[in-house]
Amino acid sequence: MKENRIFSSLLLVLSALLALSACNRPDDGPRHLTPEEIEQYKKQQTVKIEKYVEYRQGNCPIILTVPHGGTVVESFLTLRNTSNCPDPDFATDLDYNTRELADEIDKAFFQQTGKHPYMIIALIKRNHVDFNRRRNYAIPAGDDNVGKIYDAYHEYVAKARSEVSQQYGHGLLLDIHGQSHSEQIDLGYLLPVSTLNLSDEKLNSGTYAASSSIAYLTRTNKAGLSFAQLLRGEKSFGGILYKNGLECVPRPQNLSPGNTPYFYGGYTTRIYGSYGGGVVDAIQCEFRYSYRDTQSERLRCAAAFAKSIDAFTKVVWE
Ligand SMILES: [Zn+2]
Repeated sequence: MKENRIFSSLLLVLSALLALSACNRPDDGPRHLTPEEIEQYKKQQTVKIEKYVEYRQGNCPIILTVPHGGTVVESFLTLRNTSNCPDPDFATDLDYNTRELADEIDKAFFQQTGKHPYMIIALIKRNHVDFNRRRNYAIPAGDDNVGKIYDAYHEYVAKARSEVSQQYGHGLLLDIHGQSHSEQIDLGYLLPVSTLNLSDEKLNSGTYAASSSIAYLTRTNKAGLSFAQLLRGEKSFGGILYKNGLECVPRPQNLSPGNTPYFYGGYTTRIYGSYGGGVVDAIQCEFRYSYRDTQSERLRCAAAFAKSIDAFTKVVWE
């Protein structure tokens, strides 16, 4: 239907252009729109942000961002490709069912605690925009409408982060993704595998904590945990997830992915975690396929994940 409407509008534009040019070029037959006219037409379309990005106000210091689960494709928006997006890690993969999983995490967290996290959810497909990239890698160059959608998503994340910082003095952002390279949840703290391969003693010295997305929590956690304990000890987020039945890395007995594939955290974790300062920490969470696949597994995974968020934040904040 939408495509029909857009096609009809294109025909109208075409007729108007033909009518205008008729007096100058009476002998010309129908002609196709020029690339410039098509670009002009695209720019005139109105972007309704709520069709492409969903924002839900929270009432606790937890923020969930879900950048790669969107499925909306729009004919008047440009598709990303390796020519119009110079991203060295260019990808358009859909993180299958992560929107559905995040929804279940929100419901489970509310059932368990009576609170809702802030939620920023991409509805638009990653083929148009990759919200977990810096702007010039995220959008097709020159498409201002996609740019507006990218900006809206990040304004929502910044607004949530700012509100949480002011109201609670701390916060935890979890960036929800899906991966299909291993049978666990990759927890990304901006630390490459070479760093995770180091001993706890090494991790606790030097500047590793400061270069992570949990720098603030390392300095302030109420349990007095060292950086290595906070990252992969019994009371780390990974340690608690595992106790609640979810496979993940890093955690006790699974300190580093070693030489297996692993995502260590992207743009959102870097910009909105405490690596660059501030009181909100961030962890990128890449869920294995089977935790997202069926409704029964999503429910089980979401309940355990929500319980772990509550338990972990009680350890570090109370
Ligand atoms: Zn992703």
